[in-house]
Amino acid sequence: MPYSTFGNKFTQHSGITELMDDLNAGVKGGDDILMLGGGNPASIPAIQQRFTDLMQTLLNEGKLVDTLANYDGPQGKDSFIIALAELFNDLYDWDLSSENIMLTNGSQNAFFYLFNLLAGDFSNGKKRKILFPLAPEYIGYADASVSEASFVAIRPKITELDNQQFKYHVDFDALEITDDIGAICVSRPTNPTGNVLTDSEIDKLDKLAKQHNIPLIIDNAYGTPFPNIIFEDVKAHFNDNTILCMSLSKFGLPGARCGIVIANPTIIKAMSNLSGIMALSPGGIGPEIVLPLVKSKEIITLSNDVIKPFYQDKSQIAMSLLLSKITNKNFRIHKAEGALFLWLWFKDLPISSNDLYKKLKEKGLIVVSGHYFFPGLDQDWKHTHECIRLNYAQESDVVERGIDILASVVNELYQDK
Ligand code: PLP
Repeated sequence: MPYSTFGNKFTQHSGITELMDDLNAGVKGGDDILMLGGGNPASIPAIQQRFTDLMQTLLNEGKLVDTLANYDGPQGKDSFIIALAELFNDLYDWDLSSENIMLTNGSQNAFFYLFNLLAGDFSNGKKRKILFPLAPEYIGYADASVSEASFVAIRPKITELDNQQFKYHVDFDALEITDDIGAICVSRPTNPTGNVLTDSEIDKLDKLAKQHNIPLIIDNAYGTPFPNIIFEDVKAHFNDNTILCMSLSKFGLPGARCGIVIANPTIIKAMSNLSGIMALSPGGIGPEIVLPLVKSKEIITLSNDVIKPFYQDKSQIAMSLLLSKITNKNFRIHKAEGALFLWLWFKDLPISSNDLYKKLKEKGLIVVSGHYFFPGLDQDWKHTHECIRLNYAQESDVVERGIDILASVVNELYQDK
């Protein structure tokens, strides 16, 4: 059966679908598969216990059934939106009202709306694109546009650091905002690298976006103030020209599919219209569970005192295991500044990162090949085939066995180098 242009675009192979398939296989494969590929957050006992208690209370009060038995409006659950506005105003003085916030079925869903709202084909016959000023960027952006070629990305500057580490920076000299750019988008912390854009980089991007009259989208899925999986001391950023996207997923509720968009009322109105057509309304269960935590600000203490230290410890353990087991001098790790991942760079790797992914998969270890994380980078750059992303946040035993497999394969590959 022939599919439409839309159908063909969305039925072709995509990195994010392969990743979600691998993730599902990893979950079903039990102990045979070491799953260091996907972006699933860890099960943190104290957080899971808190969710269990909150759900029990909701069940006892009849609110769980009420939430499941009713649609919210297309903007999402009002009580949660009001509580979020109060939380952000208390924390940062952002002067938000409920007109500044909407909910989506996961933030992935929000990016689909945003990218198609701000980029693609326009009625004046022109095309606009989303600019990623710092590649590598999140794999999930790659296919989230109805039009072809809707993204453009800029190669980073690489700074080598001590202890086989490095850090990417925005190359502002290479960053040109032409009039076919519809928005600038960054994830902070970045998936896949764990990079956190500095306050000065964000300020410069903010100025550029304002100068060119386009929004700056900040994907804050791992950022501050929740879940706060961010190990650098940086400021939260928002103003009338920012579209700040957040999520309950990395706080521990990916199955609830709750994304949060904070922006000016014009954008929120447009996004809510889209939401009505695409989804009727976003799911209410995540907002209902988390509402008491937002009202009491416990969401902040849990993020600061439980979630952040949990991930920071795990990232440091994985980092030292990698540095002690992978013996080649060509091995580098991106400085771990946040998110759930370590980004490993194998300079002059004798095979491509995708072939390395396949070799590791045969041995029962799933990682993600780095080449997927350069959406919009229209140039051949060796570096894109020399990196892999590893989720360090799984059970310690799984991470350790995974790193053993990775080290033995990589050490052998580099044997003659
Ligand atoms: N943004 C980033 C940077 C991510 O890593 C993810 C998921 O891994 C998402 C957005 C989408 O998350 P969700 O749709 O679960 O909110």
